[in-house]
Amino acid sequence: MNAKDSIKDTWRLNEIQHTALKKLGIKTIEDLLYHFPIRYGDVVQTRTIGSLQKDDATVVYGKITGLKTKKAFRKKISMSEATIEDETGKIKAVWFHQPYIAKMIQEGSFVKVEGKISEKNGQFYFTNPEIESIGTIPTTFGDSLFGNEDASFSYPVYAESKGITSRWFYHSLKKIFSNGVLDTLIDPIPEEILNRYHLPSLKTALVWIHTPKRTEDSVSARKRFAFEEIFIIQLQKFRERKGQETLPAYTIPNNTKEVQKFIDRFPFKATDAQQRAIDHILEDFHKPHPMSRLLEGDVGSGKTAVAAATVFSVTITPPKNLEFGNLQTAYMVPTEILAEQHFESFIQYFSYLGINIGLITSSGCKKFPSKINPTKATEISRAQLLSWVEEGTIPILIGTHSLIQKSVKFKNLAYIIIDEQHRFGTQQRKALRKKDGIVPHLLSMTATPIPRTLALTIYGDLNLTLLDQMPHGRKPVITEIILPHERERVYENIRNKIRSGRQAYVICPRIFEPDPQKEMTLNVKSATAEMARLKKEVFPEYEIGILHSKMKPAEKDRVMLDFKNGRTHILVATSVIEVGVNIPNATTIIIEGAERFGLAQLHQLRGRVLRSNHQAYCYVFAETKTEKTLERLKALKNAKNGFELAEFDLAQRGAGELYGRKQWGISDLAMEAIKNIKMVEAARREAEILIEEDMHLNTYPILKKKVIQEEEIHFE
Ligand code: ADP
Ligand code: MG
Repeated sequence: MNAKDSIKDTWRLNEIQHTALKKLGIKTIEDLLYHFPIRYGDVVQTRTIGSLQKDDATVVYGKITGLKTKKAFRKKISMSEATIEDETGKIKAVWFHQPYIAKMIQEGSFVKVEGKISEKNGQFYFTNPEIESIGTIPTTFGDSLFGNEDASFSYPVYAESKGITSRWFYHSLKKIFSNGVLDTLIDPIPEEILNRYHLPSLKTALVWIHTPKRTEDSVSARKRFAFEEIFIIQLQKFRERKGQETLPAYTIPNNTKEVQKFIDRFPFKATDAQQRAIDHILEDFHKPHPMSRLLEGDVGSGKTAVAAATVFSVTITPPKNLEFGNLQTAYMVPTEILAEQHFESFIQYFSYLGINIGLITSSGCKKFPSKINPTKATEISRAQLLSWVEEGTIPILIGTHSLIQKSVKFKNLAYIIIDEQHRFGTQQRKALRKKDGIVPHLLSMTATPIPRTLALTIYGDLNLTLLDQMPHGRKPVITEIILPHERERVYENIRNKIRSGRQAYVICPRIFEPDPQKEMTLNVKSATAEMARLKKEVFPEYEIGILHSKMKPAEKDRVMLDFKNGRTHILVATSVIEVGVNIPNATTIIIEGAERFGLAQLHQLRGRVLRSNHQAYCYVFAETKTEKTLERLKALKNAKNGFELAEFDLAQRGAGELYGRKQWGISDLAMEAIKNIKMVEAARREAEILIEEDMHLNTYPILKKKVIQEEEIHFE
């Protein structure tokens, strides 16, 4: 047996197992070794049916009877049901969309059932539990399932798929271990690094993670693999960074005086943090190699002004060896609403200079100034815009994803800004920058406050600047968690605010009402229904607009414009307004179904009303009031800034769930480890030293293979 052998050549598998392994992405023995348990079960989780409680996640053993499949809900969905019974009681189980259950399991046989307990009309039942036929009911729970381990043995639980159970993994891995495969594996982590941090070797760690004898062993093994993953990510980031540092960029003179004059034209005084951030960026511009910087600042901290001041410095710089003309900037934002908004603010910032500013989105292109009316923008054809950009006569181009299309060519692209960069994938960011020849400076901006460890991991290739100060005079948003009977009071408050000239947002978790015939649709408010209800029952005297992602771009524009101009008083919206929307006169926000949003997202939504010096209010409505929900909402209420909230969320929920690990390509295991700053820093330090010594990792062939393999995956 060899690590690279395919599983299907090693073991006989049936068709179902075959499909299951494919679904889990496991092809070789090595893949199997790296399919780590998601947790370790223990005897406590196995319960007798008589002792079950609502919301328990549990395993029961019993005899199955009354197994039948029928069409439920107007014959649309198949539903199977059965009763499980042990000596202490009975419980019902139902499965939707799994007609094969009845075929798989024999009436009257013994089964192991694993799932969560729900309750309806005082009756407990399992919904869609995992089920498995077993020969006999184990006498002492926990042991006979995995062989004769001692009582304290805690068994590994894997991500399973139909036909492949945790037990299958356990026994297959035992076979692999006894076959000497482990001795053929080479540890990618240099030994001195393992020793330095007391991490187990690859071989030991594999045994410990799959078949731990003690909890400490599995913990230690998990730590090692998390370290390995983060270490490899850091190696890539440092390689990338080092690679960037050798490329040519446009050197932009300091232009300090001119930039200061530009800043003095702002309708407000720049905060110290803004001033510092601008200085950092101007310094970077002055170097002959491209800047890679992340500007992280809470919602409303004024990132756009920082961007504008630095764009100014680029814009007034003529291309190399020329006395006139302007270097170019591309400014990418995630939504059309935002692109329009930035286009307008940039017109305000730059119109006095008499330069051209372009806008490109999938619904059209615009240019400022219009030939006919030099104080206004005008719509132009895409072809026209592209040719001007290519000639270099549009120094500032703002746009959505449309900016990264191949047809968009710049003459002298010196600077790229990516706003709300967490909304873009790594590939999109790279695509924008991957131009031949001179590499543009890059400024990424984000308001998603992420914990420092995560930032170090995923943004290891960027230099970080924090905008850790709010504009002068901003009062924190007053956040209240609202109980159902207090709705009227909140509406009354809004009425008062509208009377004194302010506006309000109402955010709903979904766009349309759910189809009542669909089973298990979530009972959360939809924007369309809520808008109708508010108009009819609550605010008949006011104009109410609606905004969601299924609307046509032109419609969205009109709605935004109406709200901006104060023609509508209340804007009912989905989370489309989450990023960047800037309407300072809107000072109250209601968030319906708040439990449906992540904390970071709630904080972003709340940020929509922190845009002026009026006192702002955020009313949080939640439909479920579990303790966990309340605790999270309380954190939202009390946190002083987004960073605090991010740390709280990380501690409470784990990073994987929070930050869309898929986006970063980081495993659950490593995400868990990201809670540990010491480990992240250690991995970072070691990676930096290694890359300094040997950028191409020629002395570490196994590591090199892993690092490059990963790079390729990320580039796909
Ligand atoms: P974000 O960092 O969320 O992108 P914006 O750049 O949209 O924030 O700025 C939010 C609002 O604050 C805008 O209306 C902007 O004009 C204003 N603003 C920015 N900087 C300052 C400042 N130093 N003082 C007062 N208002 C400011
Ligand atoms: Mg912004």
